[in-house]
Amino acid sequence: MDILNHSCQNSTRVIFMYKRITIAFLILTLVFGILISNLGFIAFKANDSPVSYNRSQKSLTLSTSRGMIYDTNMKKIVNTEKEILTACLPTTNALNSVKEYLTDEEVKGLYEDMNKGKISILNLPKRFNENHIKSVTMVNRYSSDQPCVHLIGHLDQSGNGVMGLEKAYNEILSSDTGNLKAVWSCDAIGNILLGEGIDFETSNYMSPSGIQLTIDLDIQQIAEKALINNKIENGAVVILNSHTNEILAMASLPTFNPNDISQSLKNPDSPFLNRSMTPYCVGSVFKPIVACSAIENNINFNYNCNGNIKVGETVFNCSNNTAHGNVDIDSAMQHSCNCYFIALGQKIGAEKLLSLCKNFGLGNSLELADNFYVKSGILPDEGSINSQQALANLSFGQGELLASPIHLATVYSCFANGGYYRPPTLMKAVIDQNKNQIKKVELPQEKKILSDETIKKIDDVLKNVVYMGNGRNALSEMTENHGKTATAQSGWFVDGKEITHTWFCGYFEVNSTSYTVAIFKDDGQSGATDCAPVFKEVSEEIYLIKSNAN
Ligand SMILES: [Zn+2]
Repeated sequence: MDILNHSCQNSTRVIFMYKRITIAFLILTLVFGILISNLGFIAFKANDSPVSYNRSQKSLTLSTSRGMIYDTNMKKIVNTEKEILTACLPTTNALNSVKEYLTDEEVKGLYEDMNKGKISILNLPKRFNENHIKSVTMVNRYSSDQPCVHLIGHLDQSGNGVMGLEKAYNEILSSDTGNLKAVWSCDAIGNILLGEGIDFETSNYMSPSGIQLTIDLDIQQIAEKALINNKIENGAVVILNSHTNEILAMASLPTFNPNDISQSLKNPDSPFLNRSMTPYCVGSVFKPIVACSAIENNINFNYNCNGNIKVGETVFNCSNNTAHGNVDIDSAMQHSCNCYFIALGQKIGAEKLLSLCKNFGLGNSLELADNFYVKSGILPDEGSINSQQALANLSFGQGELLASPIHLATVYSCFANGGYYRPPTLMKAVIDQNKNQIKKVELPQEKKILSDETIKKIDDVLKNVVYMGNGRNALSEMTENHGKTATAQSGWFVDGKEITHTWFCGYFEVNSTSYTVAIFKDDGQSGATDCAPVFKEVSEEIYLIKSNAN
């Protein structure tokens, strides 16, 4: 059993052991796939002589890195999880140093590999710094509890971005790659010069250059936790700074493991879908737009709801056929009276209502960052809304209308921002090697689309929904919350039951900063029970971290 005297035969092998065997293996396979396949069987021969004629240096890439992705406060969103790798030359000393950390089976495998003259890379709980056995810290691209999974996306086996911002900014992120290598020396005929030991070499590894997003990691974590705490398994939360429409958080469930996407490929719940950016049936969170259109057009309207309303030959109902009696814009919003808004829509007319919808960006795709788009959804056009029934459907957010959580968050941030509409943004700057901002992204121009009078009125109306109406589950003692619920019929049936899309959209202020939040649940019960509690939790958690800030 003399490893030193055994001439090396044919290969270097990477073995991962101890508790993180699977993760380490998968990460290296996924991100640095060349390692196992191409470098797995390179020939080295062991030789204890420290000096040799015509010697050469051999290396093995342990990890490659690509551009950093930062949040708005320059906190790292990726490249945060460290891992210790230990490289061993094929020597008895090295084997003896590590065997107490390995199972008998692993020791046997390692011995066999060393006997063939292989360099071994191990994942051990202890660091080593000896001639034949040395440890180094490598950084994983994604952590085991990676935030912003859908937004960041993932890489293919060659290390190229194939989804999310990894794909959209692949050119920038892959322009500054670096690597970490194990290096050792061989003599002219390929024998490892054991006396020279093993070492590591880095080239531009974990360079600080990359991109900076508008995401606030603290707020992102609040959004992700709120979905889980409220048992929303299929849904999304979007949080905007209402003044700038910078996206502070974008969470979507279910999620996938960016370190091992194969796990998620067969999941029928579409874990790769970023629900924050996907259009859904809107329902009653659309009603404030109808209200604003009425106020802008000086329509002051009362209506006597008897539980249903006939438009042409079609009868539309209020929820559970509830008769809301005599309602004005305020009480109709508090009770989410469909009949009121259907009648109001007929008074406003399709042209004026659609005109405001277009000002809100509904039916248009949104470019959040370069080549990173939110799908347009559907806003009916003048042609398809030429019947009274189609207008009635639109007036309470049903019919053809589809919009994503990010679209609706942008609508509500206009209410919170004095009637100024601005498209949302996600990208803040490109970051150079010295962590300086270069190519700073300018905010898009804002445009006043609602008068001060309209804003004052809709602000009161949306506050009363939370304080006196069916948005009470969003009420908090910490912040003054405004918003609207929705329980939208999707028209999609599973096992005879119609899938319902539920929502809460609203806003609140902490320390003079206004936050707009859109919450969506796929296949929910009601916006009041599913999503309003999420809003309450988000508002309180943001209050707790931001009220004492600065
Ligand atoms: Zn009603």
